[in-house]
Amino acid sequence: MTMPVIALRALTVLPKMTLSFDISRPKSVAAVEKAMVSDQQLCLVTQLDPEDDDPDLSRLYHMGVIAQVRQLVKMPGGVIRVMVEVQDRAQLLDFDSEEPALIGDVESAAPDFDVDCIVAEAMVRVLKDKIGEYGKQNPKFSKEVLPNLMAVSDLEELMLQIAVQLPWDYLVRQKYLEALTITGQYEVLVGSLVNEIEVSRIRREFQEKVKACVDKNQKEYFLREQMKVIRQELGEDPLSDGDEYEKKLSALKADKEVKEKLKKEIDRFKGMPGGSQEANVLRTYIETLLELPWNKVSKDNNQLRHAQEILEEDHYGLEKVKERVLEYLAVRILTRKGTSPILCLVGPPGTGKTSIARSVARALGKKYVRISLGGVRDEAEIRGHRKTYVGAMPGRLVEGLRQAGVANPLMLLDEIDKVSSDYKGDTSSALLEVLDGEQNVKFRDHYVEVPINLNQVLFIATANTTQTIPRPLLDRMEVIEINSYTENEKFHIAKKYLLSKQMERNGLKPEQLAFSDGAVRTVIHNYTREAGVRNLERRIGEICRKGAREILENQRSVIRVTESNLEKYLGRKKYTFEDANEEDQVGIARGLAWTSVGGDTLQIEVNVMPGKGELKLTGQMGDVMKESAQTALTYVRSVCPEYKVADQYFEKHDLHIHIPEGAVPKDGPSAGITMATAMLSAVTGKKISARVAMTGEITLRGRVLPIGGLKEKILAARMAHMKVVLVPDKNRPDIAELSKEITRGLEIIYVKTMEDVLGEALTDKKQ
Ligand code: ADP
Repeated sequence: MTMPVIALRALTVLPKMTLSFDISRPKSVAAVEKAMVSDQQLCLVTQLDPEDDDPDLSRLYHMGVIAQVRQLVKMPGGVIRVMVEVQDRAQLLDFDSEEPALIGDVESAAPDFDVDCIVAEAMVRVLKDKIGEYGKQNPKFSKEVLPNLMAVSDLEELMLQIAVQLPWDYLVRQKYLEALTITGQYEVLVGSLVNEIEVSRIRREFQEKVKACVDKNQKEYFLREQMKVIRQELGEDPLSDGDEYEKKLSALKADKEVKEKLKKEIDRFKGMPGGSQEANVLRTYIETLLELPWNKVSKDNNQLRHAQEILEEDHYGLEKVKERVLEYLAVRILTRKGTSPILCLVGPPGTGKTSIARSVARALGKKYVRISLGGVRDEAEIRGHRKTYVGAMPGRLVEGLRQAGVANPLMLLDEIDKVSSDYKGDTSSALLEVLDGEQNVKFRDHYVEVPINLNQVLFIATANTTQTIPRPLLDRMEVIEINSYTENEKFHIAKKYLLSKQMERNGLKPEQLAFSDGAVRTVIHNYTREAGVRNLERRIGEICRKGAREILENQRSVIRVTESNLEKYLGRKKYTFEDANEEDQVGIARGLAWTSVGGDTLQIEVNVMPGKGELKLTGQMGDVMKESAQTALTYVRSVCPEYKVADQYFEKHDLHIHIPEGAVPKDGPSAGITMATAMLSAVTGKKISARVAMTGEITLRGRVLPIGGLKEKILAARMAHMKVVLVPDKNRPDIAELSKEITRGLEIIYVKTMEDVLGEALTDKKQ
């Protein structure tokens, strides 16, 4: 057949389709016109290259279709819309002429039916399977087209429908068109279907992922917007918070370095999504820094007289301590510098150390903060954690400054003797930096990061003993010792201070509770046993509480507390002092000891048993005490002949010295003469008077050397109802310093040598 030919761009037309397409190329227009004047038939073929404007035979696919023109519509711009009904496949063999229209030789070409009916059936099933699967991925297709396709049972028809109905690329259709056999067509379709299914699946997956992602983003966006509104309502908007911080920053009195650092952090904070963890960390940090006092100071009251009045007002006795404190303050006021050494009040618990510090703060009009160092082991507690740690906080000093709200408070470093160091860093070296006037101008806290000036802080430390304070720390402090109170001092403190304080605290008016002097003394004597007055205060508080209840319950107007009804309030007496009334014994001597919580008596026991002259020591003695025991033994051996002890005695006997309360470590040389006395008594079998207590260091030749802590020791002897106390002669001045009240009722005998000691302690020397 000879007929006009139209070259199609990117479009392959299949048999039995009805479709329209637009043409504008002159050759195509001419071809249509030619067709219209004959039998209206056209051959449609596809160009190899859609961009080609005037393809010749070699640049066309040769397999195309024959179509019948049904309608022509002239469109603006010389475009003609052609509507055709496609008939059969046809092969373009050659062109008869190419001008003005393409006229070609065309031969109709039906594919070979090369399969039998079973294979055809199988092919139908496979194809239906595949389009079913395809339908699953493409819901629209499965709804509109799939049912029709499923109804087709003829293989050729089915394949054609699949090729026509599915949204194939024209190249797939071209391939289908060009397949010369049914098998060939089948392979093209199945291959393409499988391909398409896979592509659809992947596309779908992608879509779902993208959708999920978009959904999530949308949800978050929505929530965030909501949160913003909520925050604004609550006044927590990061931006407005940031502005707030900036406002505070501009009002902050601080050095440039600090302000710059804060500015940077605030800017960073403003750029963060509100509510994120990092923003919260930063918020705490900024707020902490803004709250620190930096250069804000309070005005001190520098009148020494005022200070003196207040110290007197708050504390009974303690003359020496008050004097030292006032001297210290005088120097401070004159030099106007914070570099004066740090005061350290050392004494047993409850002797008013903390309370003196508080009075000093009151006297100077300073803010008072207490930093408890007891049990601090971790350097970070003093210096803080780096802010990157979860829950990081500044150290205690900075926290103290924050509490004080000014840069020049009085800071009490309580229990400085109880800091210890472990693997987590050296606490005492951190403290050293704090206490050193040169270094504490730029104290570095890990959390705060910018240096802090602690130079204006007035530090006062307290400790129970200087022994456990690390040497370098101790060197930087000026130690003021506070001694135990005597019973009389306790009595006055109770009457003048503790009673009124506790009554007020428990809501009692002065006239509601009458405390007899005898009752106060009994509380001191029989219900407490301490160096200070802390338990005394507690006992008085207990009485006040019970009194308050009684007043309310029984409608009483006044409660009288006397010696006789004391048991009603405090229960049975806790302490009685009959220890000293034991009999005279062999090998048991009573020494006097000084401990960080006051004085105590120390019973030293010696036993002799057959052996080889060894000395056994038990009861937790320190090295100094052990050496002292050795010295005492040597002395005892050297004087034995005078006491008619057999020459070989020590070669055949062992000595065992024990100091009861083995759990408490003891050390110091002051038990020397006591151990020597006990040993000699054990060796000779002479009894030691139970009325005598003694203290003193011993030398090899039996001289007695002076010792410290006399006030506590003498008080302890009194408490234990000893009658006679042997004191080294060289300690005479110390005893003279003690008030009469302490030594009253005690016979104090000064001893220079062991002979003096033995003369007093052994009951019958001459035997
Ligand atoms: P410390 O710090 O030495 O352990 P505190 O300062 O806590 O002891 O004192 C315990 C209580 O005893 C406080 O209520 C304190 O006021 C009171 N106190 C101690 N000594 C005296 C004193 N000399 N005069 C008046 N009250 C005192």
